[in-house]
Amino acid sequence: MNLLDGKIVSAHYKSLLQHNVNVAIAKGLRVPHLAAVLVGSNPASEFYVQSKMRSCKEVGFHSSLISKDENITESELVTILHQLNSNDNIDGYIVQLPLPKHIDESKIIQAIAPSKDVDGFHPINIGKLVLNQDTFISATPLGITKILEYYHIPTSGKHCVIIGRSHIVGMPMGLLMLRNSSIGNSTVTYTHSRTENLKAITSQADILIAAIGKPNYITADMIKNGAIVIDVGINRINDESKKKGYRIVGDVDFESVKNIASYITPVPGGVGLMTVIALLLNTWKAYNNTFLIENHKNE
Ligand code: NAD
Repeated sequence: MNLLDGKIVSAHYKSLLQHNVNVAIAKGLRVPHLAAVLVGSNPASEFYVQSKMRSCKEVGFHSSLISKDENITESELVTILHQLNSNDNIDGYIVQLPLPKHIDESKIIQAIAPSKDVDGFHPINIGKLVLNQDTFISATPLGITKILEYYHIPTSGKHCVIIGRSHIVGMPMGLLMLRNSSIGNSTVTYTHSRTENLKAITSQADILIAAIGKPNYITADMIKNGAIVIDVGINRINDESKKKGYRIVGDVDFESVKNIASYITPVPGGVGLMTVIALLLNTWKAYNNTFLIENHKNE
């Protein structure tokens, strides 16, 4: 088993981004600026937003956090988004999900200017992804493609099974693996909560991507020998031996699956780290309106 190590890949991209920011500053340009809108005080959302803000600082981006009380109305929130849309100093922004129940998430997402939608959730950006046009790609699937690319995992012609069809992970992930691209050209099978006989399908996967939200759900008997296993899940399970009383595990039972898989992402230390990096890459793209020049070493 080889580890697909999110720490190594994220460090690689952080240093590329730092370099690019330094080049921009040396040219007298302003630095990229990511804003985040946080509604309410969900501890997980606060944690995710803080880690995104911290990562901005690490690569030299500006970041702004706009925190609002959970009683904010939908129209007040839309007004804030319109202000962000017209603020030329902000390259891109995210609205941390989930939102309180009285706010219609789809209305909020549609209020984000597609050119600033660095989460890639706007229908226009998802439509462009379907058509394989240049767009902002949802951060977690984009981060996964960066891991596959970094480790030179061949995807063309491979059977890629996606577990989960959410609009932020499973669905765009399958589209990326399907498209005619260096990471892509796979034969894609989507599975979800209504799929019958999941094991019969997962055991045919050359590449298995699990985005379910059920701790240790994918076990060794569901994996083909030598498969590449990408674990998106972030699940808390009780663990009295830990100070916090819990630990984080993925959707894949790492301990058993690592003996069958040829490559596997750990949790933590895998996809989660790359999700944040992908958001930074999208912000850089919004800033620069072009993809990161990877080959800066050859400049
Ligand atoms: P979601 O709840 O929106 O979607 C879960 C998907 O799993 C659904 O499409 C559902 O059909 C499918 N599913 C549920 N039970 C199933 C079963 N028994 N068999 C097959 N499919 C089943 O969740 P999501 O937002 O896509 O997130 C999935 C997991 O990934 C969660 O653990 C979440 O915390 C994690 N996540 C991690 C990152 C990261 O950066 N690593 C980012 C986003 C989400």
